[in-house]
Amino acid sequence: MSTETAVMHVMNTYAKWPVRLVKGQGNQVWDDQGKEYLDFTSGIAVTSLGHVPPRVARRLHEQIDTLWHCSNLFHIPQQEELAGKLSRLSGLDRVFFCNSGAEANEALIKIARRYAQKIKGTDRYEIITFQQSFHGRTLATLTATGQDKVKDGFAPLPEGFVTVPYNDSEAVKKAISDKTCAILLELVQGEGGVHPADASWVKELRQLCDENGILLLVDEIQTGIGRTGSWFAFQQYGVIPDAFSLAKGLGSGFPIGAIVASEEVAEAFAPGTHGTTFGGNPLAMAAGIATLETMEEEGIIERVGQLHQLLLQHLEKLKQEHPDKVVAVRGKGLLLGVELTQPAADIVAYAREHGLLILQAGPNVLRLLPSFVTTDKEVEQAMAVLSAALTNE
Ligand SMILES: *Cc1c(COP(=O)(O)O)cnc(C)c1O
Repeated sequence: MSTETAVMHVMNTYAKWPVRLVKGQGNQVWDDQGKEYLDFTSGIAVTSLGHVPPRVARRLHEQIDTLWHCSNLFHIPQQEELAGKLSRLSGLDRVFFCNSGAEANEALIKIARRYAQKIKGTDRYEIITFQQSFHGRTLATLTATGQDKVKDGFAPLPEGFVTVPYNDSEAVKKAISDKTCAILLELVQGEGGVHPADASWVKELRQLCDENGILLLVDEIQTGIGRTGSWFAFQQYGVIPDAFSLAKGLGSGFPIGAIVASEEVAEAFAPGTHGTTFGGNPLAMAAGIATLETMEEEGIIERVGQLHQLLLQHLEKLKQEHPDKVVAVRGKGLLLGVELTQPAADIVAYAREHGLLILQAGPNVLRLLPSFVTTDKEVEQAMAVLSAALTNE
């Protein structure tokens, strides 16, 4: 089949770039023409250890020769191991594994409602979410998402979600009612333009939740597993959520999702209340275990902090050199946004043509998501391309 005919059979859900990637190694990827790119997207915060990280690859190879799948009707030792690691790293008690971010947030929404109704014996079901948030593409998670464009044409949407402005305490207080069962938020809004939450606001949310018997749910799908410079973003905010979701970086590219909850909240999911065929299968668990092992044993989180400082220095310098084009630099760890006075798409395209892959988050914001194994030299290489892009576009 010719390329053109083949393209016709894929649904048109992405405005695709004119590039076909066929190979990756570390921070480099290659297209079908043999052109090399430096990857500062990490597959949107997924391949945080670079492409085909050796320890994860080895572990997956071993597991491929051993057992791929078995039902969750059986105990799965790899699941117990990964759940134990996530519990130790987060301080929360229990983990449910699934296959993607949206599916993890669905589980968060379900567990919050069931906790309110079955454990607490109330008739609460409403969840407060925030403008510019992103929580996924299933019906419930797109309803939770604070962006109209993802909802367009999908009515009727499920009930029970209220969306209020981010970093706004008064709006949250007003939205809380005797129907509220949870507040769901990202601590750095990734898709919505790389906006970090204010530390004092997050503390206040925790307090409001405690006072009103409401669960605090954190969507750590993009921010979790080291991306913001700690294992989980909430660890930098000095608050402990009642439950949180994970996905992107957890499997180094192998599809995986998870929710982690306190013992008390986890009790809401008794046998028969929630489930999955593929979630938590031995292959996905092997990828997750090897990812966390690599990060722990190779001091990867410390490296994220160093890279953050280095990138910030460079980006602030770019801002000074291009005051007419760069408005702001923000973000945490290796989830960085550069707000421009012009469309980000032009800069993204220029960078790509010159061998650097970066993303945008909204019309005017560049989003940089380099891997945690990026070298200082690669940072310099990327910044040189970005500087040229800002000069020429
Ligand atoms: C990517 C993302 C999701 C959705 O994850 P999928 O695996 O695409 O379903 C949800 N929340 C946040 C914060 C994300 O960044």
